[in-house]
Amino acid sequence: MNNIINELAEMFKHFPGIGPRQAKRFVYFLLQQDSSYLTKLNHLVAELPKMISSCVECQRFYQDGQFADHSLPCPICHDEHRRNGQLLVVEKDADLEAIEKAGSFAGQYFVLGGLVPILTKEPEKKIRLAGLVRRIETLAKAKQLTEIIFALAVTTEADHTIEYLKERLAKLAEQYSLKFTLLGRGLSGGLEIEYSDPDTLKSALENRH
Ligand SMILES: [Zn+2]
Repeated sequence: MNNIINELAEMFKHFPGIGPRQAKRFVYFLLQQDSSYLTKLNHLVAELPKMISSCVECQRFYQDGQFADHSLPCPICHDEHRRNGQLLVVEKDADLEAIEKAGSFAGQYFVLGGLVPILTKEPEKKIRLAGLVRRIETLAKAKQLTEIIFALAVTTEADHTIEYLKERLAKLAEQYSLKFTLLGRGLSGGLEIEYSDPDTLKSALENRH
């Protein structure tokens, strides 16, 4: 019979940033909790795919109402007060949430769901390229989109992703006269969207180039 401690630790090892030792610590932490904690955790994990949808437009995860309707756009994409002239492209949901919380952007979003590693053979599988193309076409055909803002972190992988996207989207940009812009880089030279404070995000957006 398999050792359940090892099996569960194996599951935790797949979590972002978690190594084998931390994975084991999670298992021992769970062993010390009472049964109501474990039941609730079990229940919430099982409910995730039922309650959470990926938005058909921006692709972020969201919970809408009691049961997720997988065909509806999320409340942000659904909001008629938002402007359609700018599409802001982020790596992950947490980045979108940070920008939304800062309250300095009123345009449209797209969540790439990853970055393109430098030496990858199938870059289109690392990000939601097809979804991004669809999103751009829909907004551009409505004749309102003018700008695509790449709001990615300041890392080599992010830079590589931007170069890759610019190349793949070049024809579309030409066809619909879209310009590409990047966030202004913070004074420190580094910018992690997820951990940036609202003022830094605001100035990065204002100083985009
Ligand atoms: Zn959405």
